[in-house]
Amino acid sequence: MQAPAQARRRIGNFSATPTFQPRISASEPVISSSRDITQQRQLHESRPLWADTPRIGIRAAHTPSKSEYDVIVVGAGISGALAAHALTDGRRSVLVVDRRTPVRGSTLASTAMIQHEIDIPLHKLAGMIGVEKANRAWRRSARAVEQLTRIVADLGISCAFERKKTLFLAGDEYGSRALRSEVEARHVAGIEADFVDAAALGQQFGLDRTGAILSDISASANPAQMAAGILRAAVARGAELVSPLEITDLRTTGDSVFLATAEGKILSAGHVVFCSGYEFLKSLAQEDHSVVSTWALATPPGTDAPGWLKDCIVWEGADPYLYLRSSRDGRLIVGGEDEESETAYASPQKLASKAKVIRRKAEAMLGTALPDPEFVWAAPFGTTRTGLPLIGAVPGLDRVFAVMGFGGNGITFSQIAAEIVSSAISGHGDTDADLFAFGNGAR
Ligand SMILES: Cc1cc2nc3c(=O)[nH]c(=O)nc-3n(C[C@H](O)[C@H](O)[C@H](O)COP(=O)(O)OP(=O)(O)OC[C@H]3O[C@@H](n4cnc5c(N)ncnc54)[C@H](O)[C@@H]3O)c2cc1C
Repeated sequence: MQAPAQARRRIGNFSATPTFQPRISASEPVISSSRDITQQRQLHESRPLWADTPRIGIRAAHTPSKSEYDVIVVGAGISGALAAHALTDGRRSVLVVDRRTPVRGSTLASTAMIQHEIDIPLHKLAGMIGVEKANRAWRRSARAVEQLTRIVADLGISCAFERKKTLFLAGDEYGSRALRSEVEARHVAGIEADFVDAAALGQQFGLDRTGAILSDISASANPAQMAAGILRAAVARGAELVSPLEITDLRTTGDSVFLATAEGKILSAGHVVFCSGYEFLKSLAQEDHSVVSTWALATPPGTDAPGWLKDCIVWEGADPYLYLRSSRDGRLIVGGEDEESETAYASPQKLASKAKVIRRKAEAMLGTALPDPEFVWAAPFGTTRTGLPLIGAVPGLDRVFAVMGFGGNGITFSQIAAEIVSSAISGHGDTDADLFAFGNGAR
């Protein structure tokens, strides 16, 4: 494929040659001249539970049908799927590309507890960024879960999506007093939540903790089926999906963004959105976020577990935390034991020892023995100090957006990102864009 003549004129030395060696001038910002514009990493070790589930394959083209698009979305995980869904309106040409098979990045490793609860509790976040902003972030997160519920229902996606409650248990990091403050803070923000004291927790759930918060506006799903279904719907409405296709370089001019592919081709777009997950743009590596390691396991279908787990997902306010949920076919999916290391997840020894600890902690929490896990897996995982993601225009790069820094409620944040980025591309503002913008100092 050749860049169109008009495009080649505009970008001067940035031409499509098989070896693609851009020459850079000061007036044409380039963020990388290496072959690898986004951080490459293994996005999961061992085989995550969802890898064996049906309906996660999507037909993708091998090459784009043309070289100019209105929008190019880099990354075909849940973030790219939701962005494509929001951007494909029948008028814009939208191309989604991925260097992997679609939906085989972090989305495949996700335990997919879809929550409005941000990793940092509201009363604590308010102390970090102020009450008004913290309340807005939490309310926006709650609206995003409602919106995800509508999208899955409207598109008729079969992905085991189930609305659930969240039980946030007191632990060594957040005790019952902190949980009471949290419930108050949520009520002030207009978000429903009930404090459950130790006695009620024992009676209703058979759990031995000093307290908990029970809240609505959560869900669980098969994340790979969900992302694949949303991508399929975007393609049915006119988006193009190409895989494998790797973006290796980028250049912006006043009214276009030019992307180089690993094959040395050039694509141009009015806007580009990097939905590249924990393989974020290298130029954004200094932003205030980090990548840690996390572990998860899934028991076999039909695991004997308390009945209330069908309707509730569970978080423990402990460090390291533990979280668990059930799946529709009766598995228990349990995760946690995060370590502040970008690479620990790659160790097979750690995979075995972490799985043991997670299982033992879940058994202690539920007061019941669990069967041997059928799946254990590990993955890199993003965190920020405030739990808020980074979403918005990339500083210094006109018409380029990125969404990154997703932590424990990454799927909810992917929806917020789709809304904010599609509004910006459509020329409308978003009243909450400031909360997540790059360089706003909030994290
Ligand atoms: C173990 C684990 C448990 C989790 N649990 C939860 C949970 O319970 N609830 C929740 O909400 N979130 C959870 N998360 C977080 C959530 O899974 C992530 O936020 C989400 O999957 C990120 O999706 P994404 O589409 O942004 O990234 P990905 O799914 O990784 O997709 C990004 C894609 O970009 C592609 N890409 C990167 N660079 C390029 C390039 N240069 N050219 C072409 N393609 C490129 C990659 O190949 C990849 O496929 C969890 C994550 C992990 C790892």
